[in-house]
Amino acid sequence: MQNLFENAMAQLDKVAKLKNFEKEFIEALRHPDRDIRISIPVTLDDGSLKIFEGYRIEWNNALGPYKGGIRYHPLTDINEIKALAFLMMIKCAVTGIPMGGGKGGITVKPKNLSKGELERLSRGWVQKLVDNLGPYKDVPAPDVNTTPEIMSWMVDEYEKLTGEKSGACFTGKPLDRGGSEGRGPATGLGGYYVFHALRPHLAEDGLPQNCKVIVQGFGNVGSNVAEIFSAHGHIVMAVSDSKGGIYNENGLDIKKLIEYKKATGSLSGFEGAKDITNVELLETPCDLLIPAAFENVITEQNAPKLRAKAIMELANGPITPEADEILFKAGIPVIPDILANSGGVTVSYFEWDQNLKGEHWSEEEVNKKLKVILDDSSKKVYEKARELNTNLRNGAFILALERIKEKT
Ligand code: GLU
Repeated sequence: MQNLFENAMAQLDKVAKLKNFEKEFIEALRHPDRDIRISIPVTLDDGSLKIFEGYRIEWNNALGPYKGGIRYHPLTDINEIKALAFLMMIKCAVTGIPMGGGKGGITVKPKNLSKGELERLSRGWVQKLVDNLGPYKDVPAPDVNTTPEIMSWMVDEYEKLTGEKSGACFTGKPLDRGGSEGRGPATGLGGYYVFHALRPHLAEDGLPQNCKVIVQGFGNVGSNVAEIFSAHGHIVMAVSDSKGGIYNENGLDIKKLIEYKKATGSLSGFEGAKDITNVELLETPCDLLIPAAFENVITEQNAPKLRAKAIMELANGPITPEADEILFKAGIPVIPDILANSGGVTVSYFEWDQNLKGEHWSEEEVNKKLKVILDDSSKKVYEKARELNTNLRNGAFILALERIKEKT
């Protein structure tokens, strides 16, 4: 597998040259402020002890407290978390929210643990990191395989250990624990807003009113974005999860599909749809392809075979730098992760802000504020890319680096 961290550093070097940033500034940004590795002992239900590896990387806080999710995955390692922390720094700067960049994780397959084991593991992560966390220091949130319930255990543990009563130490909490309205679908909805803001610039001959959309990944982000696009009249032709995909040229009923997956645990066999592989799904002709699962799914091997008119990255790092070049040369525009999926962290920032002020905003208010921020950052990213005659990813990176530089 490609090393996401090396990819991120290569991207940094590329834009450093494009805009002639000072060498010292770029060199400093190549290193995290803090690289914390922990061992978390957990007593399993059978009484045995298992030690898990955990991480928190605090990359940079020039713009505000470190901010970023916690990932639970068997393949998660320090390099992945470092790359994601670095990308969080860039992402927060692209949106202009007053947050820095961080990321955490545990190498674990959560499906192999009972609920009690998962809770002890999550509390253990906080026990080891409590001195580094806090509303004005480092504010974690959910990421792959971490849920609002996990956040509520973590907040509880943080409050017990510190004696502080502040929900603002974590975001992505359940509503009754100080969570924000709209946080669940925020990444998907944010992607929809960004797509609309950039749509006029995406294809020379324009995209049709109702686009044919393909979504790879059907977790929180993938299922929400599929539902939102479908509710707005777009035709979601194909979706997939880690086991495989389904396809119906005339569009899938996403609401029904979400229920179907809940009931059966799988997408396969959904009425009126044909089962396809993830490889077939990525290569199916469409107006918009949305990778919404994991990193490095579009590589130099499959990039030349893609038949999408535009691509929007809702996962972090789904396109390798080599594939990015191929797509750029082929004239396929890519809306980069650091802009496209920033809706999640933006509503996390709203949650933090509401907690600190003791407020609770309606979902309508949250979505309105989200749209204002994403419209503005999409416009600024587009203008920056145009000014430098480059792609949207480089434009977004440069916008972010300029903002960080101003506060460094
Ligand atoms: N995990 C999400 C991301 O990668 C959200 C982070 C947050 O809300 O802090 O952007």
